[in-house]
Amino acid sequence: MSDERSGATVAFIGLGNMGTPMTRLLVENGFEVRAFDVSEAAVERAAGLGATGCRSAVEAAEVADIVVLMLPNSAIVGAVVDELVEGGALATGDIVVDMSSSEPLRTRALADELAKAGISLVDAPVSGGVKGAERGALTIMVGGEPGAVDRVLPALEVLGKPVRCGAVGSGHAIKALNNLLSATHLWATSEAMEAGVAFGLDPEVMLQVFNTSSGRSGSTDNKWPNFVLPGGYDSGFGLALMLKDMKIARGLAEANGTPTSLAAAAVALWESAYERLPGSADHTEIARVVAADGGSRPVTAAPRPAFAHDADADR
Ligand code: NAD
Repeated sequence: MSDERSGATVAFIGLGNMGTPMTRLLVENGFEVRAFDVSEAAVERAAGLGATGCRSAVEAAEVADIVVLMLPNSAIVGAVVDELVEGGALATGDIVVDMSSSEPLRTRALADELAKAGISLVDAPVSGGVKGAERGALTIMVGGEPGAVDRVLPALEVLGKPVRCGAVGSGHAIKALNNLLSATHLWATSEAMEAGVAFGLDPEVMLQVFNTSSGRSGSTDNKWPNFVLPGGYDSGFGLALMLKDMKIARGLAEANGTPTSLAAAAVALWESAYERLPGSADHTEIARVVAADGGSRPVTAAPRPAFAHDADADR
């Protein structure tokens, strides 16, 4: 593919909450984007943003320089890659960039398979949520052979800040471990907030103090003020996807024989929340489960009442 930022053709497969704004940014930065999703509505939306809507992954990828995948999980990534190989859409010298939050061990196995056909796999999962995707402000955790990474950097730089993490699979490993931390922080923050509010503290004041103290995290800085306190629970990152990432991180630790005591407890708590909330719940809705006293009271269908809050704050 070309080293120029504009002019290269990117097949973008997976046009969901993240893939749609990422597609828009690539189009706006001069890439020709060939977009596919199993949802026809998602393909139409991407076409409305200036991408070429395609009827299959093969059609999207067959004339592309880079194939970007932004899909729910490793199983779907594997199935789509199989379809691309069988459909003749990938050839020696091509590069697949898996930006999904996939399983690092499966990523390595897939990379080995593709390497036999001379195809490179780069893993480039992201952090920063839908807002980060909309602004091109994602942290991108990149794993892969340095020469292949070099070739995809121009596209990744449009989407955020790529960080080279090591060999293929390294990005997916760091991503899962990051989300294990994030999920653990969110549960801990929710328990602390409930305890403080029950004691009579002002939640805004609590967050203000946490955010200038050692209890600070992405949950105190971003998730609670923006998605929980206003009562919207609209981060755009599903609970099921977070739970998937946590299990990947726990599995990674288990595979390497490192401690998992807190990881196992966190997964169990999040699993219990998943069982009590609708399957489509946003991950920030675990705060509703914590508010319902960890199981002794039913989770209310309606979001919790909003506290006074500047909804435009983006911390
Ligand atoms: P999403 O569910 O909104 O989007 C996934 C898209 O993939 C859907 O549009 C779906 O129709 C499509 N899809 C499923 N199977 C397909 C197939 N076989 N072929 C083509 N398209 C297919 O998910 P999302 O929130 O956009 O997340 C995508 C990935 O990014 C996930 O791996 C997730 O863990 C990760 N991620 C999400 C966020 C977030 O804040 N939403 C943040 C960081 C990472």
